[in-house]
Amino acid sequence: MKRRYFAALTMLIFGVTTLFSFTEKEKKTTQKQPLKRIVIDAGHGGSDGGARGRYSNESDIALAIALKLEKMMGEAIPDVEIVMTRRTDVYDHVTRKAEIANQAKGDLFLCIHVNDAVPVRHSEFTGYTTETYYTGKGKKRKKHTRRVKSYNYWTTPNPARGTETFIYPVDKTTGRMNALIKNEDIDSESLQAMQELEKNDPTKMMLLSMKTQTFFQRSADLALTIEDEFKKVGRVSREAKQRKEGIFVLYAVAMPAVLVETGFISNPEEEDYLNSEEGQTEICEVLIKALKRYKYSLEKQLTNTSTSAPHK
Ligand SMILES: [Zn+2]
Repeated sequence: MKRRYFAALTMLIFGVTTLFSFTEKEKKTTQKQPLKRIVIDAGHGGSDGGARGRYSNESDIALAIALKLEKMMGEAIPDVEIVMTRRTDVYDHVTRKAEIANQAKGDLFLCIHVNDAVPVRHSEFTGYTTETYYTGKGKKRKKHTRRVKSYNYWTTPNPARGTETFIYPVDKTTGRMNALIKNEDIDSESLQAMQELEKNDPTKMMLLSMKTQTFFQRSADLALTIEDEFKKVGRVSREAKQRKEGIFVLYAVAMPAVLVETGFISNPEEEDYLNSEEGQTEICEVLIKALKRYKYSLEKQLTNTSTSAPHK
């Protein structure tokens, strides 16, 4: 067990250190392609339809956007390989989706979702009615009447609209480090393994943590860029956010990851937009613009790192 650990860790450290130091050969290949594989995940699917609108499902919209994005990206960013977690209306648990992404050794995990907000409840006073009630027991039982206010209740669609892009908080790094360890083929009991690792080799643990930090930073950069591009085409941006609940898949992958809520299915106007050809195309165009900016900044960062690195 220990030796297996060590061998795998050596591989892991090799992976981590390539992020920071480059031999000439590595410099060439890495610099060329810091973002060479993107995993696109259409949220939900199959028996899990996700949020429901008046006439459409989140899972169908997410799939339509994901497939369109794949096609458009092939033309707009041809040097990036795309891996899809699903291409049809099938259900896979999120752990399976994370597994697909990890096995593909993606450089980025991009989840497409559609938002939902609870309907707004309304009430209106309609007048008084008479209500009957009783007091006492047995022979003392007495019938009474009283006036009570009467209301009409109804709901209207929640006006919430716009986009938001989620990343997993940096304080929740344990899961991602586990994902990293697993992805490096270390036979581990995850958490216990990490504790052992920390105790036995704090330096290696630190390198692993640095990789995690890098992923967080990249996820945050991309999330901000995506929301910025949505604003540019006039969508309401609800900003880039950190969220822990319900997005386990984001931290189960050993790569930077973002989840894009492309609009509100609960808002009739946005449901139409999300189902329309123009709406889906606009969303894909925005995502491609953001991905291009992200890719360019990664390439620039690598160039800066390699030119500013001290010579030995
Ligand atoms: Zn969803």
